[in-house]
Amino acid sequence: MSANSMHTVLLIEDDPGDALLIKEMLEQQECQAQLITVQRLSEGIHILQQNACDVVLLDMNLPDSSGLPTMTRLLDAVPSTPIIVLTGLSDESFGVDAVKSGAQDYLVKGDLDGRILKRAMFYAVERKKLEIALKQTRDLFERQARIDYLTGIYNRLMFTELLEAELQRARRYGSDLSLIMFDLDHFKKVNDTYGHNMGDHVLKEVAQLTSDSIRAHDIFTRWGGEEFMVLIPKTDQNQAGILAEKLRRLFEAHDFGNGLQVTASFGVTQFRVGDHADTFTARSDKAMYLAKQKGRNRIESL
Ligand code: GH3
Ligand code: MG
Ligand code: MG
Ligand code: MG
Repeated sequence: MSANSMHTVLLIEDDPGDALLIKEMLEQQECQAQLITVQRLSEGIHILQQNACDVVLLDMNLPDSSGLPTMTRLLDAVPSTPIIVLTGLSDESFGVDAVKSGAQDYLVKGDLDGRILKRAMFYAVERKKLEIALKQTRDLFERQARIDYLTGIYNRLMFTELLEAELQRARRYGSDLSLIMFDLDHFKKVNDTYGHNMGDHVLKEVAQLTSDSIRAHDIFTRWGGEEFMVLIPKTDQNQAGILAEKLRRLFEAHDFGNGLQVTASFGVTQFRVGDHADTFTARSDKAMYLAKQKGRNRIESL
């Protein structure tokens, strides 16, 4: 976008003389954009929430707001609109602070001419676009770092962090904390017989069935290929065993497609004084292997 292809510029300025100056500068630069001028921050926010504007020119000292909060309040209200702050010659440092807090640029009113204004608007719009794109990429990476791509539940990295926090809580407050590990039975055969896509489908379905059966503060992860864990705060081993049995029956009874049946083996354990993440998870793993040894599709507790 060039400054000439902007549609709407919002000027929030309470000084009529300054407002007129800016209006004339934009006209001289043959800026085609519609200039909307308001005198109060609240009016500006109201307009921006109704109509998209390409860029905002913001005087920081207004009847209803002054100093840096003028900019930060506006930014909070309309985070994707680029803001250029207008400062007086004597308060240029406000402009620097505003940029550090998220404004795209600042212009000193006494120093202003049309070309500078036009260029600042152009750069502000372009930089904001980049900023938004960067944020989207960062959000995506952050999500990928925590979430298992196949099932959409927490991956092992995220689980490990949450486990540490729950272990600390259990140590500090002596609250119960239980762990269920489960591993799908003969899953290799599912892949070999029905194909890898069907295997993936089963994993997703298992994740969904489990997610639907646990509480919001239970922490569910895909620990490995076809191994899952549910960390259950404020719950003892007996209650955890009841949840494991509920899941076991749910899987056993579920039609995973064309009558395909899949079961899982479960290991259940409870936090003990002296436990660390390794000892705690290893015990659930050991219990799960015991369930495998004893014939699968069952639950063992240690
Ligand atoms: P057991 O009852 O002893 O657990 O037998 P199993 O066949 O389930 O165990 P094994 O460890 O031999 O095989 C696990 C299989 O899980 C092999 C692997 O290809 C499959 N698997 C792991 N991750 C994925 C995945 O993301 N998608 C699919 N489709 N299969 C996976
Ligand atoms: Mg003012
Ligand atoms: Mg398995
Ligand atoms: Mg396994």
